[in-house]
This record gives sequence, C-alpha cells and structure tokens, in this order.
Amino acid sequence: MALTSSVINQIIQQEILLDDLSDDDLATFCQTANLAYRSGESIISDQDYDFVYLPALKQRLPQHPLLQSIEPEGQGFSEEKVLLPEVMLSTDKAYSWDEIRKWIERLEKSAVDIGLAYVDIQIKATPKLDGFAGFDDGTHLYTRGDGKKGSDITRVFDRGLQVYNDSKRGQGAGEIVIKKSYFESHLSQDFEYPRNFQASLIKEKALDEKAKQAIADKAALFVPFAQLPTWSGSIKEMSESFEGIVEKVLSTVDFDVDGVVFETTNSDLKIQMGANRKFHRWQVAFKENKDKAQVKVLSVTPQVGRTGKITPVAELEPTLLSGATIVRATGHHYGLVKEQGLGAGSVIELTRSGLVIPKINQVLKSAAVDIPVLCPSCGESLEWESDFLMCVNHVSCPAQVIGKMEYFFKILANNDGFGIATVEKLYEHGIRKISQIYALSASDLSAMGFGDKTSANLVNQLKRSTNEQIEDWRFLAAFGVVRMGMGNCENLLKSYPLNEIFELNLEQISAIDGFAELTAQMIVTGLNSIKPEFDLLMQHRFNLEQTPLKKDLVEFTHDLFGKKIIFTGKMSGSREAMKKNAKSIGIQVVSSVSAKTDYLVIGEKVGQKKIESAENFGVEILTEANYLALIK
Ligand SMILES: [Zn+2]
Repeated sequence: MALTSSVINQIIQQEILLDDLSDDDLATFCQTANLAYRSGESIISDQDYDFVYLPALKQRLPQHPLLQSIEPEGQGFSEEKVLLPEVMLSTDKAYSWDEIRKWIERLEKSAVDIGLAYVDIQIKATPKLDGFAGFDDGTHLYTRGDGKKGSDITRVFDRGLQVYNDSKRGQGAGEIVIKKSYFESHLSQDFEYPRNFQASLIKEKALDEKAKQAIADKAALFVPFAQLPTWSGSIKEMSESFEGIVEKVLSTVDFDVDGVVFETTNSDLKIQMGANRKFHRWQVAFKENKDKAQVKVLSVTPQVGRTGKITPVAELEPTLLSGATIVRATGHHYGLVKEQGLGAGSVIELTRSGLVIPKINQVLKSAAVDIPVLCPSCGESLEWESDFLMCVNHVSCPAQVIGKMEYFFKILANNDGFGIATVEKLYEHGIRKISQIYALSASDLSAMGFGDKTSANLVNQLKRSTNEQIEDWRFLAAFGVVRMGMGNCENLLKSYPLNEIFELNLEQISAIDGFAELTAQMIVTGLNSIKPEFDLLMQHRFNLEQTPLKKDLVEFTHDLFGKKIIFTGKMSGSREAMKKNAKSIGIQVVSSVSAKTDYLVIGEKVGQKKIESAENFGVEILTEANYLALIK
C-alpha cells in the first residue's frame, strides 16, 4: 500500500507522528525514505532516519526486509567492486569530552610504552566533512565501498571536478563536497540537503545543468584530507582548550561539517597504537551527539526530592536511543508538564547526549495533564514556587527525610552501604536523623532485620567514615542545606573556621566574595536549622581536614604558594612534618601525580619510574634542597 505524497509530507513535518502510523504505513514510509536516500534525493535527515524511524520499525516489525541487510556505503553503483589501493577505515567516534578523555588516556598509555614523554605528544585537528568519501590514486577515483573494495567513479574527474585549493590529483583519501554558501544561494531551492546534490554528481546518468555549473564554479570539489585546514598543538594544549579548538576547527571551512577529527602526528605512536578492523586507534572524531527519538509517554508520576522539589518522571514506551533502551525520563519541573501538556498519552522528543540521562526536549503531542495537589509522600498540600511545585513539609515529609540522609552519605563519599534501600529500611524502623544512624550498634541493626554480616559491615562503614580524613567543607556540604553546596562551603570555610560559622550574621556572610545577600540569608537560616544535628555528629569525632584560611595565606610570598606538590622518597627530616609545614604555608599537598600537579619533590631512593611518570605529565622535579630554597 502506498502513502500519498501529502501524507508523506505530513510525516516529514511531524504533523503525523510515529504513534499515529500503522505498522504498514511506517514500513512504507521507511522504504520510501530509504529509496529516496539511495537515489540521492533524501526526504528526511540521516539522523531522523537512523534514530527515529528505523528503531521504531525494528521494534514493531523486527522481521521486515529493510532491517535484515545493512547496505554498505557505495551500494547503488552498478560497477563491479574493485580492490582499493589502500584500505579506507572509518573513524572511531566520541560524543562527549569524557570519551575524548578516555582516548587521551589510551594515547598516554601507549606513549609511556614507547618512552615518549607526555609533553611531546602532538595532536592535529581537522574538520570532519559530511560529503561523499573517495580515494584518488592519481588516475582513478574510487568510492569507499566497504573499506576494502569500492566502485570506480573516475568519471567525476572526467566531468571536470577540481581538487580543493587547485592542488594536484593523487592525494589519497578525501571527500566530494559542495560549498555550503553556494548550496544555499544556488541549490537549496531544488535540493533539500547538500548530500542529495553531492550524490547527483557521482551517479552514472548525465549531469544536469546545475551540477555542471557547480563544477565549473569550483563550488563542487574533491577535498583531499591532506588539504584541510589544521589546528596543531600539544596534547596539553588540546586538553586545556578543547571546546575552543572544536569551535574554531568547525568554522574553518565553507563545507558541511559534522565533527572534528583529532589524531596524533607522532609516527612512532601511530605505529604503536595501530588499528583494529574498523578504525585507526590513533584517531578519533568528536561529534556532538544528537540522537533523538519520538517517544510515547505511558504515565507521569511525581517524585519528591530531598529539598521538597517535585519532579515529573515520565514512564515511556521502551525506546532504543544511543544504544540503550530508555524506559523513563525526567522533566526538569512541573512547569513543563503544565505548559506543554506532558501527560499520559503525550508524545515527546527525547535526546540523549553521550551517556547522560535522557532529557525531555519538547512535547510534540500534548495530552491531558495530571498536576498533583498533595505530596505523594506525606500528603501535605503542594505549593508553586515559580515553575517548581514544592512540598514545603521539609521536617517530616518521608521522601525528604530519606533523601537528606542518603545525600549525607553520598557527599561524604568515604563509605559504602548507605544507599537508598538501606536508608529506607532504617526509616521504616524509626530513624530520622544522621546522628541516630551513627549511634546504632550492630545488634540494633540486626534487630531491624539486617543480616548479621550486613550489620557488622554497616557499623564498620560508619567507623570508616569518621576515621578517614575528609575536607571540612565536604562534611558541611553533606548536610544538604540550600545554597550550601561544596563550592559555597569551601568558600565559606576559607574565610571562617568551622567552629565559628554558626555565630556569623548576615552582614559577615554577605561580605564574603561570591555571596549575595539572599544567599547569605539562606545560609544563616540553614546553619541555624542544622546546628543541633551538627553538634550531635561532632561527638563522633570525624577526622576533618581544615580548609586553609585566606587571611593566613596572604602573608606568604614564596614561589610555591598555591602550587600542587607531591613529596616522595626519604627526606633529611620527617616527610610528614615536611608536608604539614608545606600546608601551613599555603602549598597544596597532593598524593598522586596528575597533569594538574606542579612539582614532585624527591628525597633519596626515588625510583626512576616515578620520576619518568611525573615527567610524562609535565610535572617539574625538585630536590629537597631546591624545594627549601624556593620556600625561603
Ligand atoms: Zn511531602
């Protein structure tokens, strides 16, 4: 059964949503879109095809022929496939800084293996063109095909296609592209996407006038990768200004670009890293992930956070997105529910970037909404605070009490076992406060129904959390007071020691850099509310590391002030005393080498490996005597 062009158009315009399409119509639409793409006349973007329509077809009609074979790039040419002069691998992709960081770590590791210093790793970055890949050996031009065998499309050069920068033939791999500005001014009336036009340049049938003109105007070109504008620098520079480099590289060419390719240029390192069957390990393409899907909402339920904020959680029809099945997504606040009609039966656009939790972009089709009136946890009336729906029963709302206790252990981050399940169980047995938890014995826990082994372990974890040294600002932040996150707590404790903060008034706090009056007011109120609990907990002798006070620090004018330093090896005196002294004069003593470390101070008997590893990170090495001279 065919779909009329007007129906197809409505689907493209998202006037008819996935949900409204029968299985047959969806299959027909996918086939139509696929045929259009293959013939170089795409009707929807690759992204919509790959991430919205195909996954839906897969879910509804897993046996559909369209899903049974994946057509390699280059199919659609009638020529026999010929062996390429060089294997053309594809490029590994990274969708987040986190994934780029992992690639950098692999580079570092391989560099260590071949004795290449970290500071000597060189990187180049080039724009990733969104064109038609080919390989030019000087006499023939081939499509990439499956990477090993492609089709001979030398006719494109016979038709007059020029090489970018008026450079010569035979520069290897590259892409056939059309200038973006030219496409917009000359071709966008006739072609929906540059890709459609690019495909028309390659096809066997004779070129039309527009294609001939674009070639004559040198707007359509073959761009060898070797001719691309390049950013180059050290790996350190790349790490430090990644976003800026990406932005800059993306804007260097007048072609459609869908990412930035990073690669190392150290030839030994390239050999060391090699390739797998699909891609070179010394190269990675950074792409902004824009996976998205149309998803039907099954229900929306309110969830109460530790601060009393009510968050709408949408249960979804299971949907594959960026390689994971998504069944739930969270809206930022209930304002969205009200304004956009996020209710059971609505359809949302969901995007997922990298591995983060999927985000509700917008509601495509609204439905009747259900705005809760009472808190689902405590039953009290809810109140609006601008876009946020809140439960203001902060003292005894179970969800908030449980959330606060769980938060405390999470922020402390030096214990295991006090996740939500444990804390909920403690709540069921009457526990309401962190101080009550610290007063529990193993037999108390056993009596609540925890196993003997678990009870003993939980008590050990509590001990561990008091014995292990933690920063005082972290301890304070764990109380979860509004406007007292880790950053603000550290800032506050740089100005006043922990034992003085409860005496501070509004004027004193708002006088600290970075605290507006409203924040200061909330901090005064918040501190007041936690004072009794704070005092009770302090009886458990937490091992708190005091934040150095600003007023004590400003007196030091030595060269190592504020630097991150590691001490290693046997010193002339006690190393512990040396560390203590360093801290007292404003040096940040750290325990493991990283790219952020400034100096490694070495005593006697330090292994060469340790020194090399520090040098690889670009850390400067000081002897004990050098160090002492610098802090004079
Ligand atoms: Zn409540």
